[in-house]
Amino acid sequence: MDRRKGGNRVANGGLAEATASRLRVHSDEEAEEVRMEVEESPDAAGEEEVIGSDKTSADYYFDSYSHFGIHEEMLKDVVRTKSYQNVITQNSFLFKDKIVLDVGAGTGILSLFCAKAGAKHVYAIECSQMADMAKEIVNANGYSEVITVIKGKVEEIELPVPKVDVIISEWMGYFLLFENMLNTVLYARDKWLADGGVVLPDKASLHLTAIEDAEYKEDKIEFWDNVYGFDMSCIKKQAMMEPLVDTVDANQIVTNCQLLKTMDISKMTPGDASFTVPFKLVAERNDFIHALVAYFNVSFTKCHKMMGFSTGPRSKATHWKQTVLYLEDVVTICEGETLTGSMTVAPNKKNPRDIDIKLNYSLNGHRCQVSRTQYYKMR
Ligand code: SAH
Repeated sequence: MDRRKGGNRVANGGLAEATASRLRVHSDEEAEEVRMEVEESPDAAGEEEVIGSDKTSADYYFDSYSHFGIHEEMLKDVVRTKSYQNVITQNSFLFKDKIVLDVGAGTGILSLFCAKAGAKHVYAIECSQMADMAKEIVNANGYSEVITVIKGKVEEIELPVPKVDVIISEWMGYFLLFENMLNTVLYARDKWLADGGVVLPDKASLHLTAIEDAEYKEDKIEFWDNVYGFDMSCIKKQAMMEPLVDTVDANQIVTNCQLLKTMDISKMTPGDASFTVPFKLVAERNDFIHALVAYFNVSFTKCHKMMGFSTGPRSKATHWKQTVLYLEDVVTICEGETLTGSMTVAPNKKNPRDIDIKLNYSLNGHRCQVSRTQYYKMR
């Protein structure tokens, strides 16, 4: 089946994939380290592809947000962009005559919505080269008096004002937390948000369910057992450890969907993004389980009426898709039986933009008894 044609794994090395998936800017040191490798390798240096006037594929590899492709993908995600637009335009009381901070402004789209809704002033901070485009876009649309684009990292820039009334940001990564931009929002909140100010969105939650996925597991995992007659099963282990970012059909869902964790962006600390939570998934039919699937919801609770969106398999697809965690075992489950377990999520110690996931699961069922621990890395 081709339902996942073009599905992109999180790990990627080339421009095409780097622009198609939301990879955060790598640190300068990392960039320097690998750039040197590129320069020292005659082959790689010679083959560097020229993309823009002064950009090479290496530049985009380290800073995928500088390329318009990723912004195009986000802007065309109507669930995402329309949700923000509706929140802003239908709740102008939150913005009218307010000082707004747009954390990670990209093309400046959220700043433009806020300016249009009557904000007194909007500070749009963007660290990638896209900041230059955002400035042009703001000018071209006649908002240069209201929106100030600041090029730089939130953690390094100075704001011309001591406090802001509203912080708006679209910081969510795959599996909600991949790329770890949430910390940047919390940093901005603690430094600049006035007492009684609002953070938008202010709630985010992570959810879990279980799916039947024989066909695709075969294609992505078992594939390595026999590749043109050769045993490449050593790669299987690695493939199992990488969560797959892809869309799941609602018909594949075997159990209920469970809320794992809710985060209150207006109150939480960075440490709250590391957690261990239990789960109980109750089978809604007799079936096999090949994978657990995680997804997130965000909400804006400060609106007239609660607003938000879900990236779950029963909702309209977004560019975040869902995150599929394949299980070592094929679990045979009967209606009413419960797959219990726990999930531990934490940023990787070496590279905090990556996420380490530990999964415990067990079933003591009619047809199947299983208990196992698996580790995954999103990178
Ligand atoms: N607000 C835009 C872009 C969202 S993507 C939109 O909704 O379309 C997140 C953006 O945040 C990217 O453009 C990225 O370059 C920027 N960003 C990430 N970390 C940042 C940081 N620490 N400081 C400034 N910008 C950051």
